[in-house]
Amino acid sequence: MDRPVIDHRGPEFTRLAREVLEGLRAVFQTTSPVLMYPASGTGAWEAAIVNTLSSGDRVLMFETGHFSQLWRQVAERFGIQVEYVPGNWRTGAQPAEVEKRLDSDKQHAFKAVMVVHNETSTGVASRIAEIRASMNRALHPALLIVDTISSLASMDYRHDEWEVDVTVAGSQKGLMLPPGLSFNAISEKALSVSESARLPRSYWDWRDMLGANKAGFFPFTPATNLIYGLREALAMLQEEGLASVFRRHDRHARATRAAVQTWGLEIVCQDPREYSSSLTGVYLPRGHDADRLRSIILDNFNMSLGAGLSNLAGKVFRIGHLGSFNDLMLAGTLSGVEMGLRLAGVPHRDGGVTAALECLAPPTEEKGVSVSKEN
Ligand code: PLP
Repeated sequence: MDRPVIDHRGPEFTRLAREVLEGLRAVFQTTSPVLMYPASGTGAWEAAIVNTLSSGDRVLMFETGHFSQLWRQVAERFGIQVEYVPGNWRTGAQPAEVEKRLDSDKQHAFKAVMVVHNETSTGVASRIAEIRASMNRALHPALLIVDTISSLASMDYRHDEWEVDVTVAGSQKGLMLPPGLSFNAISEKALSVSESARLPRSYWDWRDMLGANKAGFFPFTPATNLIYGLREALAMLQEEGLASVFRRHDRHARATRAAVQTWGLEIVCQDPREYSSSLTGVYLPRGHDADRLRSIILDNFNMSLGAGLSNLAGKVFRIGHLGSFNDLMLAGTLSGVEMGLRLAGVPHRDGGVTAALECLAPPTEEKGVSVSKEN
């Protein structure tokens, strides 16, 4: 990214823009356009709303954690009526609940179902394919709008196959970039709905962006240096292969859970079908302060763990295992947590790191047998 900024109206930029806009489609698993804004993820949340909805529209959302709460607030500031299904911050959006609520909406008042795929505050991943199947069974025309800010390029996510209408994403997690770029992948249906959506929009207007993108440009000054980084991130993902990237994240998440369970601590996510592969939220035993543990680990080992957010503040810490991350980095991370638990006097069982290592590199007995047979 540390390169000279080029003329964003010139031919070299056009080649760069076309390459990344095309390359992004593979990561979203879509053949539809992916639009890119110089903004953090919150901007792309807003873009999804203002391009598809009108003031007074009803939408269905689920309380999965801190980020579903913030997204709800954005929608309400635009005059959207949010039916917010309460949740305990330990489970994802429930497909059966989606079906029940849409089934009883015979007038089709709901214009969208809005779900956070991977709730970053808890480490719970909602089952988007099942939610789409529920919407289809209810024969409901609402749009499906999904936030993949902490799952895209880390966990399997299929914009086309799961018939998602708008996918919201950001640069700073699975795409391994600094913050500052965010994305909307949009379906044909979302694009056609946007023609009659009446919320005011200017900076976020898909139509201006699509028009400029066709010519390899942006309607305003793009974040050229982040786009250089994005080109490299896309090349790295392609080189490793998306399926391998997802397997790597799944393995690291499994090893992390093995450590946490061996320590005898409680994972925030209650349903194993909803375990996140990009982060793991962990409860501290009652009476122990997660922020104190985090600050001991930061002071002693210079490692920053994720804080518990809003309802979970002081109760939970989060281990991130996403992006450009390998087995040794995970081993170091978990060692830092285990040493921190000791230093902080948090009651736990020993052996978490060993359990994780066994998960990452299982005993080779079987391999030895098969090698000697082959020989
Ligand atoms: N949605 C999720 C799931 C997030 O994790 C975040 C940020 O971490 C956001 C939305 C908001 O994105 P940003 O902070 O980039 O504006």
